[in-house]
Amino acid sequence: MDKSIITITGATGYIASWIVHDLLKTGHEVRITVRNKSQVEKYQHLLDIEKESEGKLVVYEADLLKEGSFDEAVSGADYVMHTASPFLLDDKNDPQKNLVDPAVNGTKNVLGAVNRSGSVKRVVLTSSLAAIYGDNKDMVDQGLSTLDETIWNTTSTINNGAYSYSKTEAEKAAWAMMKEQKDWSLVTIHPGFVLGPSLTKRIDSTSINTVLRILHGEISIGSPDLAFIFSDVRDISKGHILAAFTEKANGRYIIANESGNLLTLGKIIGAAYGDTYKVPKRLVPKWLVWLIAPTIGFTRLYVKNNIGYPISCDNSKSKKELGMTYHMLKETIIDHVEQLKNDELI
Ligand code: NAP
Repeated sequence: MDKSIITITGATGYIASWIVHDLLKTGHEVRITVRNKSQVEKYQHLLDIEKESEGKLVVYEADLLKEGSFDEAVSGADYVMHTASPFLLDDKNDPQKNLVDPAVNGTKNVLGAVNRSGSVKRVVLTSSLAAIYGDNKDMVDQGLSTLDETIWNTTSTINNGAYSYSKTEAEKAAWAMMKEQKDWSLVTIHPGFVLGPSLTKRIDSTSINTVLRILHGEISIGSPDLAFIFSDVRDISKGHILAAFTEKANGRYIIANESGNLLTLGKIIGAAYGDTYKVPKRLVPKWLVWLIAPTIGFTRLYVKNNIGYPISCDNSKSKKELGMTYHMLKETIIDHVEQLKNDELI
Protein backbone atom coordinates (compact mmCIF):
# COMPACT_ATOMS: atom_id res chain seq x y z
CA MET A 1 0.00 0.00 0.00
CA ASP A 2 1.48 3.40 -0.99
CA LYS A 3 1.73 6.03 1.72
CA SER A 4 -1.08 8.52 1.17
CA ILE A 5 -2.58 11.66 2.69
CA ILE A 6 -6.06 10.91 4.00
CA THR A 7 -8.45 13.44 5.54
CA ILE A 8 -10.97 12.03 8.00
CA THR A 9 -13.92 14.06 9.25
CA GLY A 10 -15.51 13.31 12.63
CA ALA A 11 -12.25 11.78 13.82
CA THR A 12 -13.18 12.03 17.50
CA GLY A 13 -16.01 9.53 16.91
CA TYR A 14 -16.28 5.83 17.74
CA ILE A 15 -15.90 4.56 14.14
CA ALA A 16 -13.44 7.16 12.83
CA SER A 17 -11.05 6.60 15.75
CA TRP A 18 -10.52 3.02 14.51
CA ILE A 19 -9.95 4.21 10.95
CA VAL A 20 -7.37 6.75 12.16
CA HIS A 21 -5.73 4.02 14.27
CA ASP A 22 -5.49 1.59 11.35
CA LEU A 23 -4.17 4.22 8.91
CA LEU A 24 -1.55 5.51 11.34
CA LYS A 25 -0.37 1.97 12.06
CA THR A 26 0.21 1.44 8.33
CA GLY A 27 2.24 4.64 7.99
CA HIS A 28 -0.10 7.08 6.27
CA GLU A 29 -0.41 10.83 6.84
CA VAL A 30 -3.78 11.24 8.51
CA ARG A 31 -5.43 14.64 8.67
CA ILE A 32 -8.26 14.70 11.15
CA THR A 33 -10.97 17.29 11.50
CA VAL A 34 -12.41 18.05 14.91
CA ARG A 35 -15.07 20.57 15.86
CA ASN A 36 -12.95 22.31 18.47
CA LYS A 37 -9.19 21.95 18.45
CA SER A 38 -8.89 23.21 22.01
CA GLN A 39 -10.89 20.18 23.29
CA VAL A 40 -7.77 18.01 23.18
CA GLU A 41 -9.34 15.44 25.51
CA LYS A 42 -11.63 14.39 22.61
CA TYR A 43 -8.67 13.35 20.42
CA GLN A 44 -5.85 12.71 22.94
CA HIS A 45 -6.19 8.96 22.23
CA LEU A 46 -5.31 9.64 18.57
CA LEU A 47 -2.24 11.68 19.54
CA ASP A 48 -1.21 8.74 21.75
CA ILE A 49 -1.69 6.25 18.91
CA GLU A 50 0.42 8.45 16.62
CA LYS A 51 3.34 8.22 19.09
CA GLU A 52 3.40 4.43 18.64
CA SER A 53 2.84 4.43 14.89
CA GLU A 54 4.76 4.96 11.71
CA GLY A 55 2.20 7.44 10.40
CA LYS A 56 1.75 11.18 10.93
CA LEU A 57 -1.29 12.90 12.44
CA VAL A 58 -2.29 16.49 11.65
CA VAL A 59 -5.26 18.11 13.41
CA TYR A 60 -7.60 20.63 11.72
CA GLU A 61 -10.71 22.40 12.97
CA ALA A 62 -13.89 22.19 10.89
CA ASP A 63 -17.64 22.17 11.48
CA LEU A 64 -20.21 20.51 9.25
CA LEU A 65 -22.34 23.62 9.35
CA LYS A 66 -19.59 26.11 8.43
CA GLU A 67 -19.17 26.45 4.70
CA GLY A 68 -15.55 26.34 3.57
CA SER A 69 -14.29 25.11 6.94
CA PHE A 70 -12.99 21.80 5.48
CA ASP A 71 -10.95 23.46 2.70
CA GLU A 72 -7.64 23.57 4.53
CA ALA A 73 -7.84 19.96 5.76
CA VAL A 74 -8.83 18.63 2.35
CA SER A 75 -6.50 20.66 0.11
CA GLY A 76 -3.60 18.41 -0.99
CA ALA A 77 -5.17 15.18 0.34
CA ASP A 78 -5.36 12.03 -1.84
CA TYR A 79 -8.44 10.57 -0.13
CA VAL A 80 -11.25 11.89 2.05
CA MET A 81 -13.25 9.75 4.43
CA HIS A 82 -16.36 11.60 5.54
CA THR A 83 -17.67 9.99 8.70
CA ALA A 84 -18.91 13.04 10.66
CA SER A 85 -22.66 13.10 11.11
CA PRO A 86 -24.86 13.22 14.19
CA PHE A 87 -25.95 9.71 15.20
CA LEU A 88 -29.03 10.22 17.39
CA LEU A 89 -31.85 7.74 17.04
CA ASP A 90 -34.50 9.68 18.87
CA ASP A 91 -34.14 13.43 18.40
CA LYS A 92 -37.62 14.74 19.05
CA ASN A 93 -36.82 18.43 19.41
CA ASP A 94 -35.70 19.64 16.03
CA PRO A 95 -34.62 16.78 13.75
CA GLN A 96 -34.19 19.12 10.76
CA LYS A 97 -31.68 21.28 12.66
CA ASN A 98 -30.03 18.54 14.73
CA LEU A 99 -29.89 15.70 12.18
CA VAL A 100 -30.75 16.55 8.59
CA ASP A 101 -28.93 19.89 8.25
CA PRO A 102 -25.55 18.67 9.57
CA ALA A 103 -25.82 15.40 7.61
CA VAL A 104 -26.87 16.91 4.26
CA ASN A 105 -25.26 20.37 4.34
CA GLY A 106 -22.18 18.88 6.05
CA THR A 107 -21.77 16.38 3.20
CA LYS A 108 -22.16 19.16 0.65
CA ASN A 109 -19.58 21.28 2.50
CA VAL A 110 -17.04 18.46 2.64
CA LEU A 111 -17.56 17.59 -1.03
CA GLY A 112 -17.34 21.29 -1.95
CA ALA A 113 -13.87 21.27 -0.35
CA VAL A 114 -13.06 18.10 -2.33
CA ASN A 115 -14.12 19.83 -5.57
CA ARG A 116 -11.90 22.82 -4.79
CA SER A 117 -8.91 20.68 -3.74
CA GLY A 118 -7.90 19.41 -7.18
CA SER A 119 -5.96 16.65 -5.34
CA VAL A 120 -8.56 14.20 -4.00
CA LYS A 121 -9.08 11.10 -6.14
CA ARG A 122 -11.62 9.22 -4.02
CA VAL A 123 -14.13 10.00 -1.29
CA VAL A 124 -15.35 7.28 1.04
CA LEU A 125 -18.62 8.34 2.65
CA THR A 126 -19.90 6.66 5.81
CA SER A 127 -23.49 6.07 4.89
CA SER A 128 -25.55 3.41 6.68
CA LEU A 129 -27.93 0.49 6.28
CA ALA A 130 -30.36 3.24 7.31
CA ALA A 131 -30.02 4.58 3.76
CA ILE A 132 -31.03 1.13 2.45
CA TYR A 133 -34.07 0.45 4.63
CA GLY A 134 -36.20 2.50 6.98
CA ASP A 135 -38.52 0.29 9.01
CA ASN A 136 -37.83 -3.43 9.50
CA LYS A 137 -41.22 -4.03 7.85
CA ASP A 138 -39.83 -2.63 4.56
CA MET A 139 -38.40 -6.01 3.56
CA VAL A 140 -41.82 -7.68 3.78
CA ASP A 141 -43.61 -4.76 2.12
CA GLN A 142 -41.13 -4.72 -0.75
CA GLY A 143 -41.20 -8.52 -1.15
CA LEU A 144 -37.47 -8.82 -0.40
CA SER A 145 -35.77 -11.91 1.03
CA THR A 146 -32.67 -9.89 1.97
CA LEU A 147 -31.23 -6.38 1.62
CA ASP A 148 -28.50 -5.48 -0.86
CA GLU A 149 -26.80 -2.39 -2.23
CA THR A 150 -29.36 -1.82 -5.00
CA ILE A 151 -32.06 -0.92 -2.48
CA TRP A 152 -32.77 2.59 -1.17
CA ASN A 153 -34.69 3.66 1.90
CA THR A 154 -37.94 5.07 0.57
CA THR A 155 -39.97 5.03 3.79
CA SER A 156 -38.18 7.26 6.34
CA THR A 157 -39.28 10.88 6.65
CA ILE A 158 -38.39 13.79 8.88
CA ASN A 159 -41.29 12.74 11.16
CA ASN A 160 -40.71 8.96 11.07
CA GLY A 161 -37.11 7.79 11.28
CA ALA A 162 -35.39 11.19 11.04
CA TYR A 163 -31.89 9.73 11.51
CA SER A 164 -32.43 7.25 8.66
CA TYR A 165 -33.88 10.07 6.56
CA SER A 166 -30.81 12.23 7.29
CA LYS A 167 -28.45 9.45 6.14
CA THR A 168 -30.49 8.76 2.99
CA GLU A 169 -30.65 12.43 1.98
CA ALA A 170 -26.92 12.94 2.72
CA GLU A 171 -25.97 9.97 0.55
CA LYS A 172 -28.24 11.16 -2.28
CA ALA A 173 -26.57 14.60 -2.11
CA ALA A 174 -23.14 12.96 -2.31
CA TRP A 175 -24.00 10.90 -5.41
CA ALA A 176 -25.51 13.99 -7.08
CA MET A 177 -22.30 15.99 -6.48
CA MET A 178 -20.12 13.09 -7.64
CA LYS A 179 -21.99 12.94 -10.95
CA GLU A 180 -21.30 16.62 -11.66
CA GLN A 181 -17.52 16.18 -11.89
CA LYS A 182 -14.83 13.78 -13.10
CA ASP A 183 -11.89 14.37 -10.71
CA TRP A 184 -12.91 12.02 -7.88
CA SER A 185 -14.87 8.82 -7.41
CA LEU A 186 -17.27 8.06 -4.57
CA VAL A 187 -17.64 4.85 -2.59
CA THR A 188 -20.20 4.57 0.20
CA ILE A 189 -19.97 2.30 3.24
CA HIS A 190 -23.16 0.94 4.82
CA PRO A 191 -22.69 -0.30 8.39
CA GLY A 192 -25.50 -1.92 10.35
CA PHE A 193 -25.65 -1.35 14.11
CA VAL A 194 -21.97 -1.00 14.99
CA LEU A 195 -20.63 -2.66 18.13
CA GLY A 196 -17.19 -3.71 19.37
CA PRO A 197 -14.41 -2.26 21.51
CA SER A 198 -13.98 1.50 21.62
CA LEU A 199 -10.60 3.21 21.60
CA THR A 200 -11.80 5.75 24.18
CA LYS A 201 -13.73 5.91 27.42
CA ARG A 202 -16.29 8.19 25.76
CA ILE A 203 -19.80 6.80 26.23
CA ASP A 204 -22.00 9.29 24.37
CA SER A 205 -21.91 7.27 21.14
CA THR A 206 -25.30 5.65 20.56
CA SER A 207 -23.56 2.30 19.91
CA ILE A 208 -21.66 2.28 23.20
CA ASN A 209 -24.54 3.69 25.16
CA THR A 210 -26.81 0.86 23.98
CA VAL A 211 -24.39 -1.85 25.16
CA LEU A 212 -23.96 -0.07 28.50
CA ARG A 213 -27.73 0.14 28.99
CA ILE A 214 -28.06 -3.61 28.38
CA LEU A 215 -25.19 -4.37 30.79
CA HIS A 216 -26.68 -2.06 33.43
CA GLY A 217 -29.88 -4.13 33.37
CA GLU A 218 -32.20 -1.57 31.76
CA ILE A 219 -34.00 -4.28 29.78
CA SER A 220 -33.48 -7.13 32.25
CA ILE A 221 -37.28 -7.71 32.34
CA GLY A 222 -37.19 -8.63 28.68
CA SER A 223 -36.26 -7.29 25.28
CA PRO A 224 -38.57 -6.20 22.48
CA ASP A 225 -38.19 -8.40 19.39
CA LEU A 226 -36.39 -5.64 17.51
CA ALA A 227 -34.00 -7.04 14.91
CA PHE A 228 -30.77 -5.41 13.80
CA ILE A 229 -27.96 -6.27 11.43
CA PHE A 230 -24.75 -5.90 13.40
CA SER A 231 -21.30 -4.70 12.33
CA ASP A 232 -17.97 -4.87 14.15
CA VAL A 233 -16.35 -1.44 14.47
CA ARG A 234 -13.00 -2.91 13.37
CA ASP A 235 -14.63 -4.34 10.23
CA ILE A 236 -16.11 -0.92 9.48
CA SER A 237 -12.65 0.62 9.64
CA LYS A 238 -11.30 -2.10 7.37
CA GLY A 239 -14.18 -1.55 4.93
CA HIS A 240 -13.39 2.19 4.68
CA ILE A 241 -9.70 1.53 4.06
CA LEU A 242 -10.34 -1.19 1.45
CA ALA A 243 -12.90 1.06 -0.24
CA ALA A 244 -10.29 3.81 -0.54
CA PHE A 245 -7.34 1.75 -1.69
CA THR A 246 -9.03 -0.89 -3.86
CA GLU A 247 -8.92 0.79 -7.24
CA LYS A 248 -11.86 -1.13 -8.68
CA ALA A 249 -14.08 -0.44 -5.65
CA ASN A 250 -17.28 0.98 -6.98
CA GLY A 251 -20.64 2.17 -5.63
CA ARG A 252 -22.19 1.12 -2.34
CA TYR A 253 -20.90 -1.56 0.06
CA ILE A 254 -22.84 -3.14 2.89
CA ILE A 255 -20.32 -3.84 5.67
CA ALA A 256 -22.38 -5.87 8.13
CA ASN A 257 -22.57 -9.50 9.00
CA GLU A 258 -24.95 -11.15 11.45
CA SER A 259 -28.55 -10.34 12.29
CA GLY A 260 -30.13 -10.67 15.70
CA ASN A 261 -31.97 -8.71 18.35
CA LEU A 262 -31.09 -7.40 21.79
CA LEU A 263 -31.91 -10.83 23.24
CA THR A 264 -29.18 -12.27 20.98
CA LEU A 265 -26.72 -9.89 22.67
CA GLY A 266 -28.11 -10.84 26.10
CA LYS A 267 -27.61 -14.54 25.36
CA ILE A 268 -23.98 -14.04 24.25
CA ILE A 269 -23.20 -11.99 27.36
CA GLY A 270 -25.07 -14.43 29.64
CA ALA A 271 -23.21 -17.42 28.22
CA ALA A 272 -19.82 -15.74 28.75
CA TYR A 273 -20.35 -13.94 32.09
CA GLY A 274 -23.13 -15.92 33.83
CA ASP A 275 -25.26 -13.69 36.07
CA THR A 276 -22.68 -10.87 36.37
CA TYR A 277 -24.85 -8.59 34.23
CA LYS A 278 -28.65 -8.39 34.31
CA VAL A 279 -29.10 -8.93 30.58
CA PRO A 280 -32.46 -9.81 28.99
CA LYS A 281 -33.34 -13.51 29.00
CA ARG A 282 -36.70 -13.33 27.19
CA LEU A 283 -38.65 -11.37 24.61
CA VAL A 284 -41.49 -9.05 25.60
CA PRO A 285 -44.63 -9.59 23.49
CA LYS A 286 -45.31 -6.97 20.82
CA TRP A 287 -48.71 -5.99 22.27
CA LEU A 288 -47.02 -5.11 25.58
CA VAL A 289 -44.28 -3.09 23.87
CA TRP A 290 -47.03 -1.29 21.90
CA LEU A 291 -48.89 -0.53 25.14
CA ILE A 292 -45.91 0.91 26.99
CA ALA A 293 -44.23 2.40 23.88
CA PRO A 294 -44.36 6.10 24.92
CA THR A 295 -42.81 5.32 28.32
CA ILE A 296 -39.80 3.57 26.75
CA GLY A 297 -39.13 6.16 24.07
CA PHE A 298 -40.82 4.42 21.10
CA THR A 299 -43.72 5.77 19.07
CA ARG A 300 -46.57 3.30 18.50
CA LEU A 301 -45.99 3.64 14.76
CA TYR A 302 -42.36 2.56 15.27
CA VAL A 303 -43.47 -0.49 17.27
CA LYS A 304 -46.04 -1.40 14.61
CA ASN A 305 -43.54 -1.21 11.74
CA ASN A 306 -40.42 -2.62 13.40
CA ILE A 307 -41.07 -5.07 16.24
CA GLY A 308 -41.29 -8.71 15.20
CA TYR A 309 -39.93 -8.30 11.68
CA PRO A 310 -36.71 -10.18 10.90
CA ILE A 311 -34.07 -8.39 8.86
CA SER A 312 -31.01 -9.59 6.96
CA CYS A 313 -28.51 -8.39 4.39
CA ASP A 314 -26.27 -9.75 1.67
CA ASN A 315 -22.62 -8.72 2.22
CA SER A 316 -21.23 -10.73 -0.72
CA LYS A 317 -20.32 -7.61 -2.78
CA SER A 318 -17.91 -6.53 -0.03
CA LYS A 319 -16.34 -10.00 0.11
CA LYS A 320 -16.01 -10.36 -3.64
CA GLU A 321 -14.86 -6.86 -4.60
CA LEU A 322 -13.04 -5.65 -1.47
CA GLY A 323 -11.90 -8.96 0.00
CA MET A 324 -13.73 -8.23 3.28
CA THR A 325 -13.64 -10.78 6.08
CA TYR A 326 -15.82 -10.40 9.15
CA HIS A 327 -15.64 -10.82 12.91
CA MET A 328 -18.31 -13.09 14.35
CA LEU A 329 -20.90 -11.30 16.52
CA LYS A 330 -19.86 -13.31 19.60
CA GLU A 331 -16.29 -12.00 19.33
CA THR A 332 -17.52 -8.44 18.74
CA ILE A 333 -19.67 -8.47 21.88
CA ILE A 334 -17.16 -10.15 24.17
CA ASP A 335 -14.36 -7.79 23.04
CA HIS A 336 -16.71 -4.85 23.65
CA VAL A 337 -17.59 -6.01 27.18
CA GLU A 338 -13.90 -6.62 27.93
CA GLN A 339 -13.00 -3.08 26.79
CA LEU A 340 -15.75 -1.59 28.99
CA LYS A 341 -14.48 -3.69 31.93
CA ASN A 342 -10.83 -2.71 31.36
CA ASP A 343 -11.82 0.96 31.13
CA GLU A 344 -13.83 0.55 34.39
CA LEU A 345 -17.03 1.68 32.70
CA ILE A 346 -18.96 -1.33 34.02
P1 NAP B 1 -20.05 9.21 17.04
O1 NAP B 1 -19.13 8.44 17.88
O2 NAP B 1 -21.21 9.90 17.67
O3 NAP B 1 -19.21 10.25 16.19
C1 NAP B 1 -19.82 11.24 15.42
C2 NAP B 1 -18.75 12.19 14.94
O4 NAP B 1 -19.35 13.24 14.16
C3 NAP B 1 -18.01 12.87 16.09
O5 NAP B 1 -16.65 13.01 15.73
C4 NAP B 1 -18.68 14.24 16.15
O6 NAP B 1 -17.84 15.24 16.69
C5 NAP B 1 -18.91 14.49 14.68
N1 NAP B 1 -19.89 15.53 14.46
C6 NAP B 1 -21.19 15.54 14.82
N2 NAP B 1 -21.73 16.71 14.48
C7 NAP B 1 -20.74 17.47 13.91
C8 NAP B 1 -20.66 18.79 13.38
N3 NAP B 1 -21.72 19.62 13.36
N4 NAP B 1 -19.47 19.22 12.86
C9 NAP B 1 -18.38 18.40 12.86
N5 NAP B 1 -18.40 17.17 13.37
C10 NAP B 1 -19.56 16.71 13.89
O7 NAP B 1 -20.71 8.31 15.90
P2 NAP B 1 -20.21 6.98 15.16
O8 NAP B 1 -21.01 5.88 15.70
O9 NAP B 1 -18.75 6.90 15.15
O10 NAP B 1 -20.75 7.30 13.70
C11 NAP B 1 -19.89 7.81 12.69
C12 NAP B 1 -20.60 7.73 11.36
O11 NAP B 1 -21.04 6.40 11.11
C13 NAP B 1 -21.85 8.60 11.24
O12 NAP B 1 -21.90 9.09 9.92
C14 NAP B 1 -22.99 7.62 11.46
O13 NAP B 1 -24.18 8.04 10.84
C15 NAP B 1 -22.42 6.38 10.78
N6 NAP B 1 -23.02 5.11 11.23
C16 NAP B 1 -22.88 4.74 12.54
C17 NAP B 1 -23.43 3.52 12.93
C18 NAP B 1 -23.32 3.02 14.35
O14 NAP B 1 -24.00 2.05 14.70
N7 NAP B 1 -22.47 3.62 15.18
C19 NAP B 1 -24.14 2.74 12.00
C20 NAP B 1 -24.23 3.17 10.67
C21 NAP B 1 -23.66 4.35 10.29
P3 NAP B 1 -17.76 15.53 18.28
O15 NAP B 1 -16.77 14.55 18.84
O16 NAP B 1 -17.28 16.94 18.37
O17 NAP B 1 -19.13 15.33 18.84
